[in-house]
Amino acid sequence: MREIFDATLTISPGLPTWPGDPKVVLERFSRIEDGADANISRMAIGVHTGTHVDAPYHFVEGAKTVEHLDLNLLTGHAQVVFVEVKGEDIEVSDLQQAGIPRGTDRLLLKTRNSGYWERIEDGFQQDFAALSPEAAQYLVDLGIQLVGIDYLSIAPFKEGKLTHQVLLRAGMVVIEGLDLRAVQPGRYELYCLPLKLAETDGAPARVILIRE
Ligand SMILES: [Zn+2]
Repeated sequence: MREIFDATLTISPGLPTWPGDPKVVLERFSRIEDGADANISRMAIGVHTGTHVDAPYHFVEGAKTVEHLDLNLLTGHAQVVFVEVKGEDIEVSDLQQAGIPRGTDRLLLKTRNSGYWERIEDGFQQDFAALSPEAAQYLVDLGIQLVGIDYLSIAPFKEGKLTHQVLLRAGMVVIEGLDLRAVQPGRYELYCLPLKLAETDGAPARVILIRE
């Protein structure tokens, strides 16, 4: 029997957001209990809220925006690996020891970050594990076309620009804010479907993994 894992965070006002990014507004705009015909909600969020995709335009002027991302990249075989992070950032040596199978196109990195989703009430965490620029280049050289991680940025908090540029200039699709708590390392069928927002640097996505 196939097993479906929902790797998506639930968007709610309590979800941690990147410092300085818009806070999540999700509220009832009209209510049956107040005499309306229907319950209607409204939301106002930054596009990098929760589980989301970064389009190349996020860090590369003039590059592809989110509605033009290739669905062939966003769906298909994906490898989940657990990365034991020795130092502050994920370095090349950590990736070399993570057992990334040859020929991997789509790679999802599960790290100690997954533990943060156990206590979202603690708010945004700065010391999450993320790719150093050298580690990002290593993934580009391996031919990885999509990379995902289990916290709100693929790049370290202290210096986010370089890592993003290395990945996005190479045309890689980046998924951030994955919830991989229930997902064991292995091979899955990935479905990552970002909202089709016009001319935008990213979009929230529903991401599911199906065990083959
Ligand atoms: Zn992002």
